[in-house]
Amino acid sequence: MNSFLLPVFICVSWMALSVFATANSWSYNVTSQDGPKNWKGICKSGTEQSPINIKISDTKYEKMTDFILTNYENQPSETNFTAVNNGNIGTIVFKFKPKIYSVRGGGLDGVFTTVQFHFHWGSDKTKGSEHTLDGKAYAAELHFVSYNTRYSGFDVAKNKSDGLAVLGVFIEVGGETNQAFSFLTEYATKLANSSSSWSNIRPFGLAPMLPWTTLQKYFRYHGSLTIPGCQESVTWTLFKESVKISSEQMKSLRNLTNASGKQLVNNYRPVQPLNKRTVKNSFLPPSCPVIRSTSIIIDINAGLFSLMLLSALFGH
Ligand SMILES: [Zn+2]
Repeated sequence: MNSFLLPVFICVSWMALSVFATANSWSYNVTSQDGPKNWKGICKSGTEQSPINIKISDTKYEKMTDFILTNYENQPSETNFTAVNNGNIGTIVFKFKPKIYSVRGGGLDGVFTTVQFHFHWGSDKTKGSEHTLDGKAYAAELHFVSYNTRYSGFDVAKNKSDGLAVLGVFIEVGGETNQAFSFLTEYATKLANSSSSWSNIRPFGLAPMLPWTTLQKYFRYHGSLTIPGCQESVTWTLFKESVKISSEQMKSLRNLTNASGKQLVNNYRPVQPLNKRTVKNSFLPPSCPVIRSTSIIIDINAGLFSLMLLSALFGH
């Protein structure tokens, strides 16, 4: 290599290395230099970041229609699942073809097609969820990720403010094995090592993983992806009611290992400031005027009763 080309080579190599380093330079470790406080770009400068704490008394009621979930109850033959222990984003993710599962209604603007679901969890049951409810963290949180079908694909949609919709489910630990999550035990063992994957998995029902009988009770706000680049493109739904998995099922998640060969746990981003946003709720209408007028009637009746009593005692 001649003396002119050498510096060019070093420069290009350095640029390639730094691009590589930037793409991977983040972690969930709060005490680490690359931890959530030092995530870059919109993660730092954005004003509509996720996750958040939802303070229920500050949420605002809005009448929103029920969700219409296509194929969530079925096991469609048009796709298989691929499960990945994704070392880069630190989770186990189940992916599938777009345009098979979809989400609409539920106050969403458009039809969103679901392309994957994944989990966030803690090292013990006091932490693990990304969102918190009145300050309470759950042991885990499940995310169904969908993109708006008005865009050509996930990668385009993730940069549009109305591009993505994520359905979030809080998970608690305890009790019996939850059959809806029986796949966890099987695939967490098969995917114990980071970057391992398993394809051609016959679809299992997505609906049983949701709090199916109380789907009309949810919180809604606009926020972001919870991993870098933190694009503010997500219409978030958090279902009010949690689901439960057994401690054995939770253990299967905690047995996964990350890219450094360590136990994969605490893969959640801490809550972010709400700033000027309002969180809506679908289920807490302001107190009903009929109830108020009933209490007035009761008050009037109590007044009349007192008058009658007084006149009975002193009227003669
Ligand atoms: Zn997530």
